[in-house]
Amino acid sequence: MPLVPGLLTGLGITFKEIVKTVTKGAETVQYPHEKEDPAPRARGVIALHEDNCTACMLCVRECPDWCIYIEGHKDLAPPRRAGGKPRQVNKLDRFDIDYGLCMYCGICVEVCPFEALFWSPEYEYSEPRIADLLHDKTRLGQWMTTVPDFEPYEAGSQVKAKQVPR
Ligand code: SF4
Ligand code: SF4
Repeated sequence: MPLVPGLLTGLGITFKEIVKTVTKGAETVQYPHEKEDPAPRARGVIALHEDNCTACMLCVRECPDWCIYIEGHKDLAPPRRAGGKPRQVNKLDRFDIDYGLCMYCGICVEVCPFEALFWSPEYEYSEPRIADLLHDKTRLGQWMTTVPDFEPYEAGSQVKAKQVPR
């Protein structure tokens, strides 16, 4: 955009906002005395559904900030059918996310193939010590109670029944 028209557009927006503030009052919220409800799908904190996690390490490998730390061990689970062999499963010993490093990109939630990670809109977990921003699996599990239910599909976005070619 050329300089002068761009400048005029910017000044126009500033003037409009000044008029809006003078006539309707400021939209600033005096946090923490006043709180706004975040959008239900806001990226506040990541919750872990531990039972679903297989310690596959996919989230660890894909995290651009390397702020997920997982340790696990192999264990034997009962066979699925009578007479079958015991199954080998991965058990989680450690699952930490360091929110001092996390950039809230959501890649870990997207790539998890087992529905073990979810976004919660909860955002009040600041700490005076940065080291306390490391949430272990117990704390990450506690966030599950704050994960909202899935919203219904928007009109027209439902999966269509498979069309059979004629
Ligand atoms: S949101 Fe992004 S940066 Fe944070 S833990 Fe997940 S992948 Fe890593
Ligand atoms: S949270 Fe998901 S992607 Fe990460 S280790 Fe567990 S199962 Fe794998």
